[in-house]
Amino acid sequence: MKTCSFCQEKRDIDSIISGYDKNSNICYSCIKASHNLIFSDEAYDDSETLKAQNNKSNIFSFNKFTPKNLKNVLDQHVIGQEGAKKSFSVGIYNHYKRIFKNNNKSDINIDKSNILFIGPTGSGKTLMIQTLANYLDVPFAISDATSLTEAGYVGEDVENVLTKLLQMADGDIDKAQKGIVFIDEIDKIARMSENKSITRDVSGEGVQQALLKIVEGSVVNISPKGGRKHPNQEFIQIDTSNILFVCGGAFEHLDDIIKQRISGGSIVGFAHDQEKKDTEKPNILLDVEAHDLISYGLIPELIGRLHITTVFNEIDEKAMIQILKEPKNAIIKQYKALFEIDDVELNFTSGAISAISSLAIERKTGARGLRSIMEDIMTDIMYDLPELKNSSVLITKSVVEKKSLVIIKKDSIKQIA
Ligand code: ADP
Repeated sequence: MKTCSFCQEKRDIDSIISGYDKNSNICYSCIKASHNLIFSDEAYDDSETLKAQNNKSNIFSFNKFTPKNLKNVLDQHVIGQEGAKKSFSVGIYNHYKRIFKNNNKSDINIDKSNILFIGPTGSGKTLMIQTLANYLDVPFAISDATSLTEAGYVGEDVENVLTKLLQMADGDIDKAQKGIVFIDEIDKIARMSENKSITRDVSGEGVQQALLKIVEGSVVNISPKGGRKHPNQEFIQIDTSNILFVCGGAFEHLDDIIKQRISGGSIVGFAHDQEKKDTEKPNILLDVEAHDLISYGLIPELIGRLHITTVFNEIDEKAMIQILKEPKNAIIKQYKALFEIDDVELNFTSGAISAISSLAIERKTGARGLRSIMEDIMTDIMYDLPELKNSSVLITKSVVEKKSLVIIKKDSIKQIA
């Protein structure tokens, strides 16, 4: 580890460049910040500086952002997903521009554009929103659509997503009204369409209708502590016109609906060559149209409120390896830091990293699986960690496969079977 001479953060030697005198170092983040300063129209602010400014003036400092700045921030945390990062950066920029830069020069009302995320589990959907919400210092709440029900049924009221947001804003209504809400698993409340079953899932449709009201922008009464609304209760009014809603889901089998549309309904054998080519694109979901989502079971009114559709790719092995090593808070960097506190050096061979990535791919939970795989490998070692002071631990492929562990202590190599 070396200390960056600019931000004073301790960094992994792989992400730092040292000067000729070996005493001056610059880290990856500071190189990026300098690059942005030179090449973007407006200076790039470190999020800490930004937060300090926001706190001081209590006014959201929007002037410093451009979609490029936002994408640069995402690049530090999210691997791959280039298209998604770009469209989300533009979506966020436009949303807050509408709120903070719209000085009524014209009498045109700019509609709110909420966002739909389509992508497999563990592909970075939540991470992406969380990263920009942190950077912009706006409150962010996540709700699971499957836990929501229409009023009158057992479950959470749809308005509770706003209660969560208010809690994340520490009760500051003004701040909450400019926050971001992520409604995950929206695909699981799709009504059953004719493609799947003849029975219509009325409750799913009911929740979508209830969501529609808050997503499109209205004044909603919420109970400050969440839970069911009841008479004689005090309510807080939240105006949702400036809250950004992001709905997300894996939308399994949506690709079949798109393929069927592209091939003109022909299932096998009758598609023209060009149509065949289209259905064989690596991520067919990029061709999604509103009509496909309606066939999937989202109600047209809700789709009409989710103007931006952003598609995420499945995490492949190459991306999985990068996720382990490269993001600002990469898991390997976190473990290295944990070990360093106990004066133990931790290293991974490339074989070990590949083996961990393959295990994660097998689990089919995207990059989400990485943390539990790592916990599983590291628990025994961490149990002994305080006794391993001044040693070096090497994680090899066979450690991942639970065969052996190499600990180097004062020039002697010890193998633990
Ligand atoms: P989901 O797409 O299901 O919302 P998350 O964003 O919650 O997935 O991802 C779970 C975890 O997996 C994240 O906290 C992060 O550690 C890791 N992860 C997933 N995708 C990426 C990615 N593209 N880049 C970096 N880390 C990722």
